[in-house]
Amino acid sequence: MRAHFEWLLLPGIAFAAGLKLALAGGGGFVSEPVVRIFPQADTSVVSQARVLSRFDLPDAAVAIYDSASPRILFNPTLLAQVGPALAAFLMAHERGHLAFHHARLRGFGLNASPTPVSTLRSYEFAADCYAVRSLHHSHPDAVVAAIRFFQHRATLRDGCRASADG
Ligand SMILES: [Zn+2]
Repeated sequence: MRAHFEWLLLPGIAFAAGLKLALAGGGGFVSEPVVRIFPQADTSVVSQARVLSRFDLPDAAVAIYDSASPRILFNPTLLAQVGPALAAFLMAHERGHLAFHHARLRGFGLNASPTPVSTLRSYEFAADCYAVRSLHHSHPDAVVAAIRFFQHRATLRDGCRASADG
């Protein structure tokens, strides 16, 4: 069982390490677009966020970015069903949305408009990458669980690696 885990873990760590290099912007071979795709994470928003349980939430977890009151809502029942490792990844993913100030609406008041779908997709990708970066040392099992869960979503693995290579 242990060996089975390791072969899954290695690609995850390798790609996370590449991603970390891309995010650091160092090495002299990381192109500008990578920096634009992954802006600096705002960790102060993450640390200020309130984390609230909502048993009627239709999703396992959701982040609400609001500079005055950033918060993460989670459904304890749904998170328990996916197990602790994947639950840790999903919560880190939501922290990623807060760290990058992702909002479903752009602008405020009467000027607010829905964020385009293509932008929402890039938000999901960035939040996945944030989760991998924040967990690959402390909770590698969470990254393994996510890789298994998202195996059909090649963007998590190949997209991040392409960005790191870019
Ligand atoms: Zn998301």
